[in-house]
This record gives sequence, C-alpha cells and structure tokens, in this order.
Amino acid sequence: MKRLRSAITRQYALEVVQCDCGFHLGVDASFLDQEDDFEIRCPSCQTVIRTKEVFPEEDLSYQKPTVKLSGESGNVFYIIGVTMKALQRCGAPQKVIDNYQAEATSGDYDHALQTTMKYVDVT
Ligand SMILES: [Zn+2]
Repeated sequence: MKRLRSAITRQYALEVVQCDCGFHLGVDASFLDQEDDFEIRCPSCQTVIRTKEVFPEEDLSYQKPTVKLSGESGNVFYIIGVTMKALQRCGAPQKVIDNYQAEATSGDYDHALQTTMKYVDVT
C-alpha cells in the first residue's frame, strides 16, 4: 500500500492510497489526527493495512518559513494571522497550523510570540 496524493483543506482531508493489488481507495484522513493507528481493509483483495505504515509521522514535518514581523509586533492577532498564512504557504500540515493557532491564542502576548518563534523563523 502506498500513498498517492492528498487533498487536505479546512473542510476535508482526503488521501488516495494504492493497495499492493493495484486497487485505489480514498481514505477520509480527518480521523488520522485523532487515531494513532487505524486499520483499512482493501475492498478488492481484503488486505488489512495499518495507517501508520501509509502515513508515517514525518508527514507532519515541514520547512520552517521565515516571517517578517518588524514594525507590526504590537498586534498579536496580526502576528498569528501572518504566521498561519506563512505556514499554509510552505505546505505545513493543517494539524500543525491548528496546533499553532491553539497554542498561540492560549496565553498572553509573550506566549504568543514565543509560540510563533517555535513554528517559524521570525525576522
Ligand atoms: Zn488490495
């Protein structure tokens, strides 16, 4: 079983995978955030596939973007908005962006700034 492509947006997450038998199947990937491991059965050959093999943890990695915040650092909502856009642009997984938003908005201004610097490079 191998991963063919993914279409992840705010509304839905769909992964298309190909079984070793050649059968293509669409997987609702929105559960992947909640479930650590999950079994999918190929409708064609009945092989059971574990999602951990198809969707390894490294998929949550991304190239850290650089965000320019000089002059605008007084507005925490601006910082969070710009950072989320930068994460989207660099192809960061939605889970990472959601985590960032949740973490950045869970404290005071300094906390938001420190969270931002964890997810992106700030200049
Ligand atoms: Zn199969």
